[in-house]
Amino acid sequence: MIYAGKENQHQNVIRRVTDGLVRIVYPLHCPVCDDIVSVPSERICTGCLGKLKLLAPPWCMKCGKKVEDDAEYCMDCSRKEHLYDRGRALYEYAGTAESIYRFKYGGRREYAEFFGAEMAEYLSDFYQNVKPDALVPIPLHKKRKIQRGYNQAELLAKALGRQWNVPVYPNLLERVKNTVPQKKLNPIERQNNLKKAFNITRNDVKLKVTMVIDDIYTTGATIDEAARALREAGAERIYFAALTCGAGI
Ligand SMILES: [Zn+2]
Ligand SMILES: [Zn+2]
Repeated sequence: MIYAGKENQHQNVIRRVTDGLVRIVYPLHCPVCDDIVSVPSERICTGCLGKLKLLAPPWCMKCGKKVEDDAEYCMDCSRKEHLYDRGRALYEYAGTAESIYRFKYGGRREYAEFFGAEMAEYLSDFYQNVKPDALVPIPLHKKRKIQRGYNQAELLAKALGRQWNVPVYPNLLERVKNTVPQKKLNPIERQNNLKKAFNITRNDVKLKVTMVIDDIYTTGATIDEAARALREAGAERIYFAALTCGAGI
């Protein structure tokens, strides 16, 4: 199913009213401190707003990771050829680790709206340059998604899609291998672990420019494998946007 980014005014009003009612029953938790957000129009405590560190330039020209001085590429990208074209991330990993953990494993799916809105705002220049036909979240394996109840990358992509008014294809990629969690492996094992990890589920969808969405970018092994599948399916340019990135996660 495609989630079109465009919503008419009527739907927007309904969404706001529904959100308001839902927040009375299920108060929102702050993505930083996890307390209940007391200001009804906000999704984060005012005091927590500055605690998430935006990745400041200079960035790696390939993966968007922070680089020292004026280096064009990070260590990883200067050693290795990636299969995607270029990517950017929003936050430095340090300072977001606990929040991301709760977002992925702690049932805090509500963080997606805040994170999605932040990505939409701060990565809008990247989006304007790239102009993707669609956003494609990195999928979880079916079993893992059932266990967890949701896929955080899909929630992010949908929040972003609404903000940027671009279609989201949550089921275009399918994870065919229930892989070992990447954080337990070294970079070479990570790449092998993911070989042929993704399939394309539809042959009626032709996307020239895609933007893959994920929560964390580390070595790029996951994005590379997704890019491989998308390229085989005819995508000409593949970018990614991630919520956070850092080395050695
Ligand atoms: Zn807070
Ligand atoms: Zn890089």
